[in-house]
Amino acid sequence: MTFPSPEGATPAMAQWFALKAEHPDALLFFRMGDFYELFFNDAEAAASALDISLTARGTHGGQPIAMCGVPVHAAQAYLARLIRRGFRVSVAEQTEQPRKGRPASKGPLRREVVRLITPGTLTEDELLEAGRQNLLACVICPTGRDAGDPGLAWIDISTGLFETASVPARDLHDLLGRLDPAEILCADNVDLGDFAPRRTPIVPPPGADAARARMAEAFGVASPDAFGTFSDAEAQAAATALDYIRRSQAGQLPRLSHPRPSDSQDVLGLDPATRSSLDLLRTRDGTTEHTLFAAVSNTVTAAGSRMLADWIAAPLTNPARIARRQAGWVWLLNRPGVRDDLRTHLRTAPDMARALGRLSLGRGQPRDAGAIRLALRVAREIGGVLNQQAELPPLLAQAVGNLDRAHELQALLERALSENPPARMDEGGTIATGYDEELDAQRELRDGSRRIIAALQKEYAEEFGISNLKIRHHAQLGYVIEVPAAAAPRLRGREDLIMRQGTASSSRFATERLASLDQQIAQAAENAALRERHLFTQVVGDILDEAALPDMAAALAVIDIVQSCAVLAGGGAWCCPVVGDDTSFIIHAGRHPVVEAALPRNTRFTPNDCDLEPDHRIMLLTGPNMAGKSTFLRQAALAVILAQAGLPVAAASMRLGVVDRLFSRVGAADDLARGRSTFMVEMTETAAILNQAGPRSLVVVDEIGRGTSTLDGLAIAWAVLETLHSTLRCRAIFATHFHELAELANTMPRLTPHTMSVREWKGQVIFQHEVVPGSARRSWGVHVARLAGVPEPVVRRAGRLLGMLEKERGRQAPPLPLFEQQAEVVEIEPAPPAVPPAALDMLETLDPDALSPRTALEMLYKLKKLL
Ligand code: ADP
Repeated sequence: MTFPSPEGATPAMAQWFALKAEHPDALLFFRMGDFYELFFNDAEAAASALDISLTARGTHGGQPIAMCGVPVHAAQAYLARLIRRGFRVSVAEQTEQPRKGRPASKGPLRREVVRLITPGTLTEDELLEAGRQNLLACVICPTGRDAGDPGLAWIDISTGLFETASVPARDLHDLLGRLDPAEILCADNVDLGDFAPRRTPIVPPPGADAARARMAEAFGVASPDAFGTFSDAEAQAAATALDYIRRSQAGQLPRLSHPRPSDSQDVLGLDPATRSSLDLLRTRDGTTEHTLFAAVSNTVTAAGSRMLADWIAAPLTNPARIARRQAGWVWLLNRPGVRDDLRTHLRTAPDMARALGRLSLGRGQPRDAGAIRLALRVAREIGGVLNQQAELPPLLAQAVGNLDRAHELQALLERALSENPPARMDEGGTIATGYDEELDAQRELRDGSRRIIAALQKEYAEEFGISNLKIRHHAQLGYVIEVPAAAAPRLRGREDLIMRQGTASSSRFATERLASLDQQIAQAAENAALRERHLFTQVVGDILDEAALPDMAAALAVIDIVQSCAVLAGGGAWCCPVVGDDTSFIIHAGRHPVVEAALPRNTRFTPNDCDLEPDHRIMLLTGPNMAGKSTFLRQAALAVILAQAGLPVAAASMRLGVVDRLFSRVGAADDLARGRSTFMVEMTETAAILNQAGPRSLVVVDEIGRGTSTLDGLAIAWAVLETLHSTLRCRAIFATHFHELAELANTMPRLTPHTMSVREWKGQVIFQHEVVPGSARRSWGVHVARLAGVPEPVVRRAGRLLGMLEKERGRQAPPLPLFEQQAEVVEIEPAPPAVPPAALDMLETLDPDALSPRTALEMLYKLKKLL
């Protein structure tokens, strides 16, 4: 954006220019009274993004200054819209109070940028999605000959989460896919793939030593080694992220958890293409309704939902850790009473982590402290419920241990906070009566004086015999006696009453007594407010000093997931898989939970088995479109994700040897926006699989080779299948429309052909969605075209052409010589006798009733010639 030169600006605009220069790429919300005003190009951009009116205010350099504004009380909603539209916003507040007698010559009141709001630095509830993390990530890619792996750090300032990781460059996009950061600090020359739009460019990071020193300083320790081992690039990423946050919060750093090197080795590898093909947390169009998360979540707290999302995004590969999670919910499965109690208590639990986040940034309100107190109460209730149980599984026992902390803080909050703390500090009434003598005394003085005034009103009313005499507080006059104008003469005689105002209907009198009471009340109220603010700051300090709170918040989230799983599995249709260290893979009666949930009421989902045990670990799946191939492929992949996340699986039973990397390529992935054709995308993705899959991986691919000519496609699909089978030796389901490939079962011992069963009934095709051994004999494409509403004449014509083509192909040799060497020949259904299209066309157009015998005979001769 370009802005005019500040030269010749009025003092107010000069201040604007100076503040704008602090964050030139952010829209500046410039506080003026009850509005945030925007000027120049900022105003034009914001007015169009927010659909608010654009006006002008004064001139600069002879041109009117474009301006628009939003009321302060409604600013959050506007901010949310701007951030969602990709803007960054800096907020300048008035940091000097207007005082009586301040000369105008002193220029505008002081203003300062108190906050830079970017997608990765949000803390306000209104701007955040409750059930999702909001991460700021930083990626540092070392350069040079001996450069190590890229280092990452990610922080959620709304909850304090802070982790780092090193990953080989080829896995960078996988990790970003798992984290799904809202904003990525990263040098311009690093390829972020699909995440490029979330980049905030950075200048070169501090050197490794300086970076470690900054990390240490942020946490008041001598060296970050106290928290684990960080590579140079990780330390640089962490320091860069910390600096950025500090700058965005006007120099203040929120309280963050200690940085923790995250163990990305222990996590199932999922590349971005796999994630997007599986709709784990979001669908490809960004919605959350038809996702795996939505299908399995019964969490009742925002923190539980954030943690569950994290479990789904990063399934484990360590069978012991998986078993620990499973044992938690399996235990609860048999205790529906306990489960319901937990749910009831959890429903009342506020979002402790986010309340803590706001308090640590000095942006916390009394209700945030109230939220901590309530969370502690809930923690006690839940601890009580679980402590009554014998033999808690380790996951729950650890959670209960973490809940049984911070008793002193709870006692303090119970004493210090009023029962219903107000939304804002200046409303008063945050601190409970009886907590602080001085506060009580000031309040007493304030309220006592008010009582005296009430008594005075009664006294005066009686003395003057004016029943509707009132003592009122007036903005300019302070406390005054107000009487109807007609009664005013009765008061005039009194010396201590000074007439201050008279209108046609009423008269107002001041007295010295009232003036001094007024002052007393104002003073006491101010003292009380000051004292209350001071006490609140202390209470907040005590909350922030309690190191157990983040662990308690995490414990509540874990318990929420455990109950969510127990509810899911309690219905009976979900199982607890057996996950081990071998390479087995059997699912009995598996279902696709998202497709199942979306089926119309009277339609039942057909469960299917999936057996990829080591001696037949490659399944070749043929079958017409719409028969359920993609659903079957995806459901196998989703079962692995759920199983390794330690969650219930939609199947009757499952046995799984942990998968180290899962590749799913299902559904057309055009990437025309990036100038790559369908075929190019398909081949790039195939290359990624062939280069990375190993004997512990699972590959589910749909129709490799569809984007090119038949023979090319068949050849490529064949070669890929051979590699998966004999070289990579992974488990795989390979769906294809090349039915010929089923023949390869003769030369590939671990390949089993399967097909989707289809029935034909009265010329209609019926999909049974059932996976059966064997291979498809027909494509049924013409039938599907009819189902899709292709006009009937076109469908009939296609049917005839198909008959001819099949006949033609029957006459030719099989497509590739290798098939001839196979013992078995592809089984092809006898094709219907072919009729030349010209003859058909002729028959179609003629109307027998309109033919004379002679023309009929001529037609017959012509038709015979066409055959
Ligand atoms: P394909 O990949 O073979 O073209 P899909 O997997 O996309 O077919 O399935 C098409 C539709 O069939 C799905 O949207 C769903 O409505 C239905 N479907 C698929 N599998 C099943 C099943 N096992 N039980 C019931 N309906 C199914």
